[in-house]
Amino acid sequence: MIKASEIIANTEHLVEPRFEEQYQALIETCKRTLPSVDEELLRRAFLFSYHAHKDVQRKSGEAYISHPLAVAQIVAENISFDDVSVAAALLHDVVEDTHYSLEEIRAWFGSTLETVIDGLTKIGGIFSSRELGQAENVRKLMLSMASDIRVILVKFADRLHNMRTLKSLDLPRRLKIASETLDLFAPLAHRFGLFAIKSELEDLATSILHADEYDAVVRGLQETSEEREAFINSFIGPVRERLQQDGFDFEIYGRSKNVYSILRKMKMQDKPLDEIYDVFAIRIVLSADGSRGKEDCWRVYSIITDLYKPLPERFRDFISVPKSNGYQSLHTTVLGPRGRRVEVQIRTQQMHQIAERGFAAHWRYKEQVTQSDGKLDDFLTWVRDLLENPRPEAATEFVKEFRLNLYHEEIYVFTPRGELLTLPNNATPVDFAFQVHSEVGFHCIGAKVNGRMVPLSHRLTSGDQVEIITSKKQTPNPDWMNFVVTHKARSRVRHWINEKRRKTIELGQDVWRKRARRSRVEADDRALQRAARDLKFPNTQQMFYELGSGLLDPRELVKVLKEGVDAPQESDEPRWQDHFESFLQSAHETGRPGLLIDGELHTDITTKYATCCNPIPGDDVFGFVSKTGAISIHRFTCRNATHLLSTNADRIVQVEWSRQKDVQFVTALRIIGEDRVGMMADITTVISKNLKTNIRSITVDSEDGIFEGTIVLFVSDLDHLHRLISRVKRIGGVHGVFRFEEVGDEA
Ligand code: MN
Repeated sequence: MIKASEIIANTEHLVEPRFEEQYQALIETCKRTLPSVDEELLRRAFLFSYHAHKDVQRKSGEAYISHPLAVAQIVAENISFDDVSVAAALLHDVVEDTHYSLEEIRAWFGSTLETVIDGLTKIGGIFSSRELGQAENVRKLMLSMASDIRVILVKFADRLHNMRTLKSLDLPRRLKIASETLDLFAPLAHRFGLFAIKSELEDLATSILHADEYDAVVRGLQETSEEREAFINSFIGPVRERLQQDGFDFEIYGRSKNVYSILRKMKMQDKPLDEIYDVFAIRIVLSADGSRGKEDCWRVYSIITDLYKPLPERFRDFISVPKSNGYQSLHTTVLGPRGRRVEVQIRTQQMHQIAERGFAAHWRYKEQVTQSDGKLDDFLTWVRDLLENPRPEAATEFVKEFRLNLYHEEIYVFTPRGELLTLPNNATPVDFAFQVHSEVGFHCIGAKVNGRMVPLSHRLTSGDQVEIITSKKQTPNPDWMNFVVTHKARSRVRHWINEKRRKTIELGQDVWRKRARRSRVEADDRALQRAARDLKFPNTQQMFYELGSGLLDPRELVKVLKEGVDAPQESDEPRWQDHFESFLQSAHETGRPGLLIDGELHTDITTKYATCCNPIPGDDVFGFVSKTGAISIHRFTCRNATHLLSTNADRIVQVEWSRQKDVQFVTALRIIGEDRVGMMADITTVISKNLKTNIRSITVDSEDGIFEGTIVLFVSDLDHLHRLISRVKRIGGVHGVFRFEEVGDEA
């Protein structure tokens, strides 16, 4: 093994000046933001990473080292936790992307960095592998987070830098990463109190997912920036004067909401941009800290409300009662000049640091806190709690509860989508299924734990990822009562068994009534009781139950009632169960276009092809589960896709095309060319004759010698469509052929 010292000695003189500069800037930042800086450690981490990644480039063509350096800069600047996390950021891709191993990291940088890099490598591997669904990522993310808090801190920074440099990836990857960022990373960053990172992640993701809307808001903000600035200055002026007179040391400035939250507000309130950022926001940050600072916040509050009339319903005191992510501030909304509403936030420098950089910064102000301190556990507990309980106010009580229960009476398992479920010890997949939803419980037929099939009676353990396999035909099995442990599962199964029994008895009575009529048997209750006894049933209920479930042949009952007289033989009516079976069978065979949903072929799920984007086999698609349980299939490039992906992640299912039978899909071409004689005929001939494609409709516009046609037609898949496009392109006078996205409106 080459010694680290040799690598470093050999690398030192190779460092390109621009990266040396970037590194020096990093050290400066660390000295400014961190309580202590082990420069020797950081230098070693930098040179080692530089050496390990040399000759490698990012997709953008940049030298790879620029990435770990940028990530480290974000960790130092925006998270400001400690020097170990900065070193981890420098080394974060070494094990994953180079031939250096974790053992080498341990040997050269110690076990703490080993743990962090290990966690990061595991997450990284998960993220770069495309087969694994998002849920698996979430689970790994949470589990690794519990091993060392720095894993997730560095991961945030890594994600932020990747989002900043996303332009070099293709569109589907960009959309996927951006929606994952909006779904997962931004809310998590928020829960960690990393406000600055959260805001930037949201905006970067929005600029990709909703590019047009994003640009429109940015443009709108630019156009009105002067006017807004003037207004803010007119508001701030008198405040600044008073605060200076009273001897406060402070900063005051207009705060801009990020584009994401403006857009969200626009959508929620259904208002145009100029009515949204009409709500101005001002922030006052005081230098005084501690109890003096707290008092000062209140004094400033009273000055503000002297100057401007407050709207009492808009006052929030997050200083006395901080948010669960540590956020402290006074919020008030006042009526500013020209009667415009202005939100004012008042906080100390320390509160501000925590608000921007999260809990990590919180520790900095409690320097006596070491990592082995219970605080860290509290924090991790807090994080887990928040992941499970989105209600912020539930956090405090839950932390206490959680500490008592952790690793004792409860286990923590994950759904395929990465949601955390708490179950009692010895819980089984059936308990899990009922916890997810009664319907899942009722129809569960099997289970996969960490990707492997297990019996339904399998005992789960903490950290398991559980996937329930359901079948519409499956119903609860009374055997389940022997192993389920949760109250919910027990009571639902018991109730179901009773219901089922009641219905079967009713069915048995029905069967009997019909049979009795046909066989001309008249039997009163007493006769039936006697017959039940003769047939060795404890009571008539049980007899009817067995009739209903097909265990007792009604002819036997007829026979017993007629005291030995043979009942006439009649042809058996097909049982309703048979009808049902054959219905399912025929539904199966009509050959619904094969779609793999979450990797499996489901014939019992209704699928529809969204008319907003008309996917055809070969397109990248996803499924969206409607309220009725049907799944509509959209293309990733659909105009609705980004909205669905980012706001309804829990209703998205992975869908792939499976091999097709002869199924035709509707799609459309937009053709632009010269408006010459015979153009139309040429196009239709090429399409319908040469490629044997059915045309559904044609719309043509001709103006100034330009031909523009939209042809709605049926194709079998993307290949077919591409062949069509290239053939039509070859027709003389055709300038362009495009797939037309919105067929629905045209047809
Ligand atoms: Mn990275």
